[in-house]
Amino acid sequence: MSSTTGTVQRPLNKLTGVKGRVITADDPSYDEARTVFYGGIDKRPSAIIQVADVDDVRRVIRTARGEGIELAIRSGGHSIVGHSATDGGLVIDLRAMSKIEIDPETRTAWVETGATAKQVTEALSEHGLVIGFGDSGSVGVGGITLGGGIGFLVRALGMTIDSLLAAEVVTADGRHLRADANEHADLFWAIRGGGGNFGVVTRVQFRLHELPHFTGGILVLPATPETIAGFVALSMAAPNELSTIGNVMNAAHFPFLPEELHDRLVIMAFIAFAGEDESATRAIAPFRSLAEPLADMVKPQPYVAMYPPEDPNYRPTAVARTMFVNSIGNTAADTILDYLTKSDAAMRVAQIRVLGGALARVPADATAYAHRSQPMLVNVAAFYTSEADREVRKAWVTELHGKLQPNEDAAYVGFLTDDGQARISAAYPGATGERLSRIKSIYDPTNLFRLNQNISPSAES
Ligand SMILES: Cc1cc2nc3c(=O)[nH]c(=O)nc-3n(C[C@H](O)[C@H](O)[C@H](O)COP(=O)(O)OP(=O)(O)OC[C@H]3O[C@@H](n4cnc5c(N)ncnc54)[C@H](O)[C@@H]3O)c2cc1C
Repeated sequence: MSSTTGTVQRPLNKLTGVKGRVITADDPSYDEARTVFYGGIDKRPSAIIQVADVDDVRRVIRTARGEGIELAIRSGGHSIVGHSATDGGLVIDLRAMSKIEIDPETRTAWVETGATAKQVTEALSEHGLVIGFGDSGSVGVGGITLGGGIGFLVRALGMTIDSLLAAEVVTADGRHLRADANEHADLFWAIRGGGGNFGVVTRVQFRLHELPHFTGGILVLPATPETIAGFVALSMAAPNELSTIGNVMNAAHFPFLPEELHDRLVIMAFIAFAGEDESATRAIAPFRSLAEPLADMVKPQPYVAMYPPEDPNYRPTAVARTMFVNSIGNTAADTILDYLTKSDAAMRVAQIRVLGGALARVPADATAYAHRSQPMLVNVAAFYTSEADREVRKAWVTELHGKLQPNEDAAYVGFLTDDGQARISAAYPGATGERLSRIKSIYDPTNLFRLNQNISPSAES
């Protein structure tokens, strides 16, 4: 097997003391271990190290650094551009480090970053407690937390990073540091939105929130310019307890819709109200009145129900563009519908997330997420079937992105794809980017951690 012989054999020998599994191409579980969430990413690492503890992480970092081998870090494996995979390099796979330690007394939890959002949400549910992650239960705590985390509870509780109290990080020189408001405060600031640029984050400590009452689920409405613009206007005017994610999309293959509706364009909305049942009913009523719902599964239920079971073999192939916009009125809604109608991609979507609320209460310079005043996040995406089809779909998302008047000088790093340096700079504008570069030069001066939306160490170092 070429990947375990010759030049890479020597570094692999250095991994013999590792306690976790070291999986190379001759291992029967190699293909399963190297598979990431998105299809179309087919990278073949020299070895995947399913680290068991901090010492393992250190050992792999030392080996990669000493031998000059590319290093990928994987938690949930959901990077759309395959940043948690590498051709020929080493992967630190954190999935075996998924311990969740909850202290209901102090309402805090230490979570190893290989856990998924759903695993944590389920464990917290037993205590009536929550943290807000995103809209997918299988996303890794590592990736979503370091990117920021915008999900079902964003207007009620803020971003995932707004509940972060501390983190443990193994840096490029092998040190195992605690970062919080007092210790390594610069590093703590940087990892809250700066992604995996500063080291391997092995554990994070969260402040937990009580959520005795929750109403949520899926509401499907017919998509017209009026319902889309109305949905957005209602989401913006809603109380902070209410967060919505409006997916304007083709209704193909939704099990909860009758087959005759599968060609329709709909708003498939996630509704999440963090509060009393009666207030929820009042806040959600105007959404239900926008049009006769095609499906209404919004009801009082435990928050964990927002993460239904997922097919572990689901491997979508998709292209996407992310943007902040100021508004979606009738004209923009019309444009979205026009593009969705023109496309024949098996799945095509414009996803609208109205922000504000608790997210906007945090000062813009408090963390590396600098876009607290951006009112709305929109992601456009389409599935593709082949390399040629990928180009067609990419042109579609790029064109639609341009038509929606995005705020070009801002971006959310968690949804960036292979958008290029200008968009990374937009994610980290001005003083935020300069500060991140300075901190990068302290903790990772040689840019060992570069398989990410990369921040260069500042030149003065
Ligand atoms: C289906 C889907 C739904 C999503 N929904 C949302 C959403 O609602 N809200 C939202 O904010 N985001 C969302 N995202 C984006 C998601 O948060 C990012 O893609 C995130 O980076 C994925 O984290 P992961 O650990 O699963 O991915 P991975 O691919 O494992 O990692 C992603 C990146 O983070 C780095 N990284 C991961 N763990 C660590 C660690 N412990 N230490 C250092 N670096 C690390 C990796 O090196 C890589 O660069 C979604 C993504 C998908 C695919």
